[in-house]
Amino acid sequence: MNRAYCVPVLMYHHVSPSAGMLTTSPRNFERQIAGLARAGYHALTTGEFAGFMAGEPVPEKSLLITFDDGYLDNYVYAHPVLQRYGLRGSIFLITGLIGDGPPRPFDGQGPAVPDTPDHLLAKSLLAAGSPDRVMMRWSEVQLMRDAGTFEFHSHTHTHTRWDLQDIPRDQCLMHITQEFAQSRAALTRHLGSVSEHFCWPQGYFDADFVRLAGQAGFKYLYTTIAHGQNLAGGDPACVYRFAVRNRGFAWLRQRAWLASHPFVGPLYNRWKSWKRAYRAK
Ligand SMILES: [Zn+2]
Repeated sequence: MNRAYCVPVLMYHHVSPSAGMLTTSPRNFERQIAGLARAGYHALTTGEFAGFMAGEPVPEKSLLITFDDGYLDNYVYAHPVLQRYGLRGSIFLITGLIGDGPPRPFDGQGPAVPDTPDHLLAKSLLAAGSPDRVMMRWSEVQLMRDAGTFEFHSHTHTHTRWDLQDIPRDQCLMHITQEFAQSRAALTRHLGSVSEHFCWPQGYFDADFVRLAGQAGFKYLYTTIAHGQNLAGGDPACVYRFAVRNRGFAWLRQRAWLASHPFVGPLYNRWKSWKRAYRAK
């Protein structure tokens, strides 16, 4: 077996016919997943990814599929596609927004699938206190877990950017520590266990946050930094991810190739980082 040099980590938010920011259409998502399956890609479990980071071999065309927040549309549209093609992903849940009640129908289970709001409407519905129209329920989480389409991990309990609140630093650190504990308690209560994998709200972290996450039991910390490579022996506290665009498989294949190539990847990442720094001037 040829072993992977680098494992690209894909980041999605919404898969929904309600077009908008951070959204992949169900049609493009199916093209991407079908393309990955056809091209022989391996969608790793987080356990396999952790093994890779520690130096265990994984097949050459390996990648990790991740989703942030826990939107209802992931259950309605992404779950049946992953099931159809036998690939699996991970969802980082905002545990305090996941609801109760029976599972709703997902795509392919008849005409009565729930509406899935676009990102802006989702934000206003959440602000208005209606998470059940936007986010998945624990029963749906359980159903996807049993089906083997998704694993579930922590993305804090409330998704609050405590670093942006007008509070003293020690209170900020106390709040983030509480977020770790609350999300761990919710995952343990509903799923029976909690993993070492954690994703930062809006990608923000600093040295204190990383230290506290480690103390809370999180070892693999997922960022929104796209321009770096996840290599064997790399730092598990800085997992790089790139956002998947609302495009077909050809785009995704090229982006995954760029992310993981031993020579072109670092050049591409340096060029993108330079461009970003230049634009910021
Ligand atoms: Zn998020």
